[in-house]
Amino acid sequence: MKQLPHIIIIGAGFGGLEAAKRLAKAPARITLIDRRNYHLFQPLLYQVAIAGLSPVQIAHPVRAIFRRQRNLNFLMGEVMDIDFKARQVVTEHKTLEYDYLILAPGSHTNFFGMQSIEKNGHEMKDISSAVATRNHLLTIFEKASRETDPDVRRAMLTFVVVGGGPTGVESAGALAELIRLVLVKDYPQMDLKDARVILIEASNHLMPNIYPRNLQAATLKLLHRKHVSVRLRAKVTGFDGQKVTIEDDEPISTHTLIWTAGVRVAKLIEKLEAEKGAGGRMIVKPTLQLPGYPEVYVIEDAAYLEDKQGQPLPMLATVAQQQAYHVARNIHGELRERPPKPFYYRDPGLLATVGRNAAVARLWGISFSGLIAWLIWVGLHIYRLIGFRNRLIVMLNWAWDYFFYDSQVRLITKE
Ligand SMILES: Cc1cc2nc3c(=O)[nH]c(=O)nc-3n(C[C@H](O)[C@H](O)[C@H](O)COP(=O)(O)OP(=O)(O)OC[C@H]3O[C@@H](n4cnc5c(N)ncnc54)[C@H](O)[C@@H]3O)c2cc1C
Repeated sequence: MKQLPHIIIIGAGFGGLEAAKRLAKAPARITLIDRRNYHLFQPLLYQVAIAGLSPVQIAHPVRAIFRRQRNLNFLMGEVMDIDFKARQVVTEHKTLEYDYLILAPGSHTNFFGMQSIEKNGHEMKDISSAVATRNHLLTIFEKASRETDPDVRRAMLTFVVVGGGPTGVESAGALAELIRLVLVKDYPQMDLKDARVILIEASNHLMPNIYPRNLQAATLKLLHRKHVSVRLRAKVTGFDGQKVTIEDDEPISTHTLIWTAGVRVAKLIEKLEAEKGAGGRMIVKPTLQLPGYPEVYVIEDAAYLEDKQGQPLPMLATVAQQQAYHVARNIHGELRERPPKPFYYRDPGLLATVGRNAAVARLWGISFSGLIAWLIWVGLHIYRLIGFRNRLIVMLNWAWDYFFYDSQVRLITKE
């Protein structure tokens, strides 16, 4: 008897997960591979780092998600290599052959070769880095509470966030609120007027590239209101754990640098031989197929595809999900001998929060900011989380924090 075609999906992130779900009814065998056994909701990772949510609330086990999907098998493991010619995926456990391959391994932090920042700074890419950031932030407050030298204490209570994109803006706003609304009650003996959150961005604007000018200006205003000091046109060049150096500017004494200034493709993509675009993303055809290998589809962070204006599609969860849906439809079509169709991104809008009652949005072609934008942000993020239990717990958590100016996860968990 002829075997059903084998589809391998690499990555159980936004793209891989969506593709696997959309192929539930396909007459095929699916193998979904990820080094982690859970799907991570990255947009809320910063909440873990600033002690707002615990990791389990933004992650969900892959096996639980696909419990009822009979045509799918999950393999936890690292993909080491891919042989496109032989149609083989080499994992740390075994080598698998495929008829179709969907590559969705995401991205990792780009330190642009600055080793001092990679070594001494904090990043926000996965649960362990977010928890490490939380442990560091809370430990610094404990240390500052014991410190008698005012200059050292001031450096300890200076927090530098680098990167004025959505993650940097959200992290800086949330950290400023954690200090001014919550930690101020935990440390009544300490004068937290000394505490400063500084957001540094190399370009002329916050939220560069994606957000319209009026929302960039609104973001700046909201951050000022949250007591975040913003430095534009400042290029960070290093961090030795005590001091952040900036090109053509005075260094900043601080013990904390949170790096959100860049991502580049997953290491797996870096080592694959293929034509690459900006950020090392693999250039794909409009159908999202890899040139020369029609059975290989590449999506989102890993894929380089330009929009009608000639701009590369941004690295966003919404792009990942739309592309995954499209790839699943193309594969469904191909299994019925229909040719694959080109992908067009439908921009659903933009949303980013700066903290309590403060967010910026561009929805239905209208740009606005403030409370309404924030309520939409809250509702949408709760809705997009995986699992009813996570949605309920996050909703209760946020409601509690909102009314009681609290933040539940103020735990230092390192040994
Ligand atoms: C901190 C942060 C905040 C963000 N906030 C937003 C936001 O607010 N809104 C928004 O739209 N987007 C946001 N993004 C971007 C968004 O999360 C990504 O664009 C999206 O996750 C890309 O989806 P993906 O499927 O390509 O990869 P991912 O979701 O990153 O998934 C990749 C998966 O592949 C696995 N993997 C990678 N390499 C291997 C390997 N060699 N072997 C096995 N498994 C592997 C990883 O473990 C991971 O599970 C944010 C990203 C970050 C990091």
